[in-house]
Amino acid sequence: MMKSKENMVTVYIMGDAYNVPESSTIITAMEYSGFQLTTGVGCREGFCGACATIYREKGDYKLKGGLACQTVVTDGMTLAQIPFMPAEKPIYDLKELKPDINTIKELFPTIFRCVSCNTCTKACPQDIDVMDYIQALKKGNIAEAADISFDCIRCGLCALRCPAEIVQYNAATLARRLYGSYLAKKSPEVDESIEDIKAGKYDKELEELTKMDRKTLSEKYYARETKLR
Ligand code: SF4
Ligand code: SF4
Repeated sequence: MMKSKENMVTVYIMGDAYNVPESSTIITAMEYSGFQLTTGVGCREGFCGACATIYREKGDYKLKGGLACQTVVTDGMTLAQIPFMPAEKPIYDLKELKPDINTIKELFPTIFRCVSCNTCTKACPQDIDVMDYIQALKKGNIAEAADISFDCIRCGLCALRCPAEIVQYNAATLARRLYGSYLAKKSPEVDESIEDIKAGKYDKELEELTKMDRKTLSEKYYARETKLR
């Protein structure tokens, strides 16, 4: 059904004007305008971090960043496609690393260039204190960096804005890997669950889930129990 004019806004995509429903997210606005998105789009629910994008709003000189699936368009918004930013990604074998500051220094020397401008924290759509986890890493506090960065979805918006060209999210991933492998208290419940999985305890349920339609699956997901054992 066509929307009434009052409910439409104008956005500019690669320089051309398009009228789109005012409640559209950047992704749905682009699709409404006829673009078929084959990359830079993933879960559409704000979890996967694939759709990081930048935009400019009418009358505002600032370039803003956000997840295209979560950011609602505004009248006069300008959108452009950006390639994913090149990210420093050292290759390492976790089994050969030690959970200490020397590992951080060797694999991510760039974090010591941090000028504490806090731009990364302001850019993060997950409201993570990005600068704080970088500071924790500089001090070799891997557990703290892992904890602060826990909700990172690796969208890359922090790295995109960093004047020191630090790739914060890859450093944070290393912190969480080191923490999980060497520092976290062992959990008997996890070992128990792994044994249950190996014994096929969840095979039938998994098979049922893979055959479910999207609506039923979504209802089941949101009605799930999340309490810890
Ligand atoms: S820390 Fe960086 S990569 Fe992670 S969610 Fe925040 S902006 Fe995205
Ligand atoms: S944007 Fe870069 S330089 Fe600024 S606080 Fe974050 S990591 Fe440090």
